[in-house]
Amino acid sequence: MQNQRLFHEIEQLQTEMVETLMTLIRLPAIGPENGGDGENQKAEKLTQILQDAGFDRIERYDVEDSRISSGKRPNIITYCRGETDAKRLWIVTHLDVVPPGEEHMWTISKPFEPQLKGNRVYGRGAEDNGQSLVASLFAVEAIKRLGLKPKRTVALAFVADEEQGSTRGIQHLIGKGLFKKDDLIVVPDGGSSDGSFIEVAEKSVLWFKICTFGKQAHASLSNTGLNAHRVGMQVALALDRMLHKKYPLKDKRFDVPWSTFEPTKKEKNVDAVNIIPGEDTIYFDCRILPSYDVDEVLSEITQVTAEFEKETGAKIALDVLQKQAAPKTEDSKSEITLLLKKALQEARGLDARVGGIGGGTCATFFRKAGFPAVVWSTVDEVAHKPNEYSKVENMVNDAKVFALLATS
Ligand SMILES: [Zn+2]
Repeated sequence: MQNQRLFHEIEQLQTEMVETLMTLIRLPAIGPENGGDGENQKAEKLTQILQDAGFDRIERYDVEDSRISSGKRPNIITYCRGETDAKRLWIVTHLDVVPPGEEHMWTISKPFEPQLKGNRVYGRGAEDNGQSLVASLFAVEAIKRLGLKPKRTVALAFVADEEQGSTRGIQHLIGKGLFKKDDLIVVPDGGSSDGSFIEVAEKSVLWFKICTFGKQAHASLSNTGLNAHRVGMQVALALDRMLHKKYPLKDKRFDVPWSTFEPTKKEKNVDAVNIIPGEDTIYFDCRILPSYDVDEVLSEITQVTAEFEKETGAKIALDVLQKQAAPKTEDSKSEITLLLKKALQEARGLDARVGGIGGGTCATFFRKAGFPAVVWSTVDEVAHKPNEYSKVENMVNDAKVFALLATS
């Protein structure tokens, strides 16, 4: 009976949810590593939304960052007190978004001018992580509007810096000792399109950059130069081949059951066609199954670059940007996993399966610190793509599941 009232109340809030999501998308919260000015504007707006909705306990845990105009990266926590304050339910979402990528590929909306088309809200950050952020907020809003008290205290955390390593985001909050060992932690920052996938394991993450230094010259006098672009491409291709060949294992518990090794970003070199580039920079994003040792992978990569240095005479610098060894795989019978399975059964009649993904969410840091955390949401996995969107029904239905986690 209470569940039906809650579901009905959340459905009534749909228009407000869509408006809130669109308001937040309009404030680009891009980290300084990606050329942005951080999350502060969005955090200020969110704080105002929380205050207007009557959230009375709003805490800020800012982290200094001299690279951006506000000088700080904002982390916001708000609470809704439950019958018991032991075993709090945490729903952790992130404020920051990635840049638009190639802007001409945004054919439905502009990245930061959201559009509601059909049943989808388009815009950068609509899915990652706006949908879940808004869903968590309105789950609590519905509980409050009905005058209910959650069974356990609900804490909503809205964090910074998720897209670039979380040192100024969730890692800072964990370092502050805000979480207790038996708290129930949900990170709705990944999932499947039917909402039946609960992520409890993840891969190791390795990001690196390769800078190749040759000698710039006139393109017609290649004998006087050393083409860094050519060597850079050769190194990248050699790495691509070596990594896929050496690390082919599959693990069916993971969504993308193998390790991924992707050359991604490429830095611009010379402006003219007739100049042999003296420098070349390329980046790789690797997500490695936990059965492989990430340090061993890295040493294989170093070997390849050393060989090319010897062979070509170019100088090749390898710079590791992120290296996170996969934490221990979460127990698929942890209290939060079971509670979430039950809520999904009740709200949607779903028999959820439990497994692993490519990783790199806030859950990594919880697991590293020994807190069980699950990643779950209902998404089409359009994060980081052009024409990113959130399906309105997913936002509404996920809010229902969050409300059940709080009240049952
Ligand atoms: Zn995300």
